[in-house]
Amino acid sequence: MNQLRLPPLPTIKDLIKLYNLRALKQLSQNFLLDERITDKIVRAAGNISNHVVLEVGPGPGSISRSILKKHPCKLILVEKDHRFLPTLQQLQEACEDKVKIDIQIGDIRSYDFDIGFKNVQSSDWFGVPPPIHLIGNLPFSVSTILLVNWLHSISEKQAAWKYGRTSMTLTFQKEVAERIVAPPGHEQRCRLSVICQLWCEVRNKFLIPGKAFLPKPDVDVGVVTLKPLKYPLTDVPFKMAEKILRNIFNMRQKYSFKGASRLFPEDIRDELVSRMYYVADLDPHIRPFQITNEEYCRLFYAYKIISEDHPEILEYDSRAPKKNVLKNIV
Ligand code: SAM
Repeated sequence: MNQLRLPPLPTIKDLIKLYNLRALKQLSQNFLLDERITDKIVRAAGNISNHVVLEVGPGPGSISRSILKKHPCKLILVEKDHRFLPTLQQLQEACEDKVKIDIQIGDIRSYDFDIGFKNVQSSDWFGVPPPIHLIGNLPFSVSTILLVNWLHSISEKQAAWKYGRTSMTLTFQKEVAERIVAPPGHEQRCRLSVICQLWCEVRNKFLIPGKAFLPKPDVDVGVVTLKPLKYPLTDVPFKMAEKILRNIFNMRQKYSFKGASRLFPEDIRDELVSRMYYVADLDPHIRPFQITNEEYCRLFYAYKIISEDHPEILEYDSRAPKKNVLKNIV
């Protein structure tokens, strides 16, 4: 489909001035004004023409304009800050006869995807991905939480992933973007790297220098694409994988069995952690950041097998406050 030519609009810079849209730190507001950069973010998303595109945190609408040029069939804008409503409505009116723009003022964390995507035909998980895309220059304050919540939804084929393998193009602080794609042995390898790579194909596409934003943040920003895998690397429940990774990476520089042992109550800790590494066929002295995704999956599987004999370990949390023993004696 041809590019959509937008009608003449005031520049984003002028709109910010006109509506006195001072950036709010508490909502992690840093605006992109350079159309070449917003076009590049949208190009990283691949073909979105005729797609339903959901943009998280459009702010005054610079990325929204670049998305519209690609002629989606519908653009959903979810923005928490109501001050942007007039600028987004202006865009909505300007494109009225070309693209349907649905503006939702609210928090993306409570957005009901079923409302926005209700007319989209679901596609088979193993087939061609659905004509849906999520894009966002995310607020730093919620980006990691949001991503982990969405990975959980991907694992359960819920929310935007009820419709198939919906792809995402999102921004993160440079270090977070590096963590998401970090391979085994990389200095940024962490829990987030593994959890993302278990369920998605991840790419760190390019860097946006901090000076491209208004106001300039202290960090540079990475643009990352995430495409859900047809076959996730593990079939253990998301929360189980997350718990195991959390315990192991809590002691990132130590031998990995040290953190893994915290998955088990003290009286059976040594025995069960040895069993876990034996079943996984892994050297307990390997360090958390050196373990490959496949080796982590073997550890998850071993933990699951052990939990069938010891169901009490599923609820066990070594960091939970200890029960007051004295109270029981009295
Ligand atoms: N997309 C614009 C751009 O690139 O210039 C603004 C990006 S700014 C980094 C993040 C945007 O997300 C802000 O407009 C902010 O108000 C919005 N935002 C922050 N928290 C949000 C949330 N929980 N749900 C939806 N939008 C949110």
